[in-house]
Amino acid sequence: MHTVRGLLVAGNEKLSSQAHHFDLPAGLTCPGKTKLCHGRCYARKGRFAFPQVQERLRWCHEQSKRDDFADRLVDELYRKGVLLMRWHCSGDVYSPGYARKMLDIIERSEHTKFWGYTRSWSVPTIAPVLKDIAALPNMQLWLSADAETGYPDEVPEGARVAWMQTDVEEDTREADLVFLDHPLRKLTLPLAVLEKACPTETPEGKKKGTTCATCRYCWTE
Ligand code: SF4
Repeated sequence: MHTVRGLLVAGNEKLSSQAHHFDLPAGLTCPGKTKLCHGRCYARKGRFAFPQVQERLRWCHEQSKRDDFADRLVDELYRKGVLLMRWHCSGDVYSPGYARKMLDIIERSEHTKFWGYTRSWSVPTIAPVLKDIAALPNMQLWLSADAETGYPDEVPEGARVAWMQTDVEEDTREADLVFLDHPLRKLTLPLAVLEKACPTETPEGKKKGTTCATCRYCWTE
C-alpha cells in the first residue's frame, strides 16, 4: 500500500506527544546563525546526526521549497487535528519566501497554536515577514539571542526574547527566557538566572518531568 509521508512529526521527549513539529537541516537553513550557536547547536549532534534523521530533514527542506508546501501543511494540520505545533526543533527561517509560507500556514490554521524560535531576525530581508508572523494571535514568536548577537534592537509586538546563556556572568535581565548551555546546567546558578531558565534544563524541572505541554510558557501569553 502506498503511504504518504507526512511533513509533521508528533512530539518528542521535551515537547510531549501533544505537540507536533516541522524541522529543517540545522546550519544550512540558519542564515542568522552565530559562531556561538552553531558551535553549541544540539541539532547538529546526537540523534539528529543519524542518517535517517538527516535524510528526513533534507526531504523536509525540499518539500518546503515546493509551491504546494503551504497547502499540504495546512491540510495535514487539519486532518491530524493538531492543536499545538512547534516550528523548527532543528533549522530556522531560511528565506523571505519561506517566511511568507509560514505566515500563510499560520493564518489559515486558526485551530492550531504555533510557537518557534528564530535567529533570522538579524537578516534584513526576513525580519519584516517575522514582524507579521509575530503579530498573529495563534503564534508565539521568540527571537533567539546570545552573547554574539546581543539583545535585539527591535522586538516586534507579540515577540519575546530567548537568550542562550553560555557564561554564568552574562546579563540576562532583558530576556524573557534563558536556555542554558550544557556545562551551565551542572552549576549552582543565581536565582535570577534560574527563574528565567527553561525548566527542562533545571534539576527541579527535570525532577517534575516538565515538558513544553505542561510548562506552557513558550506558547501561551
Ligand atoms: S520554557 Fe517551557 S515551553 Fe518553553 S521550551 Fe522550556 S519547557 Fe518548553
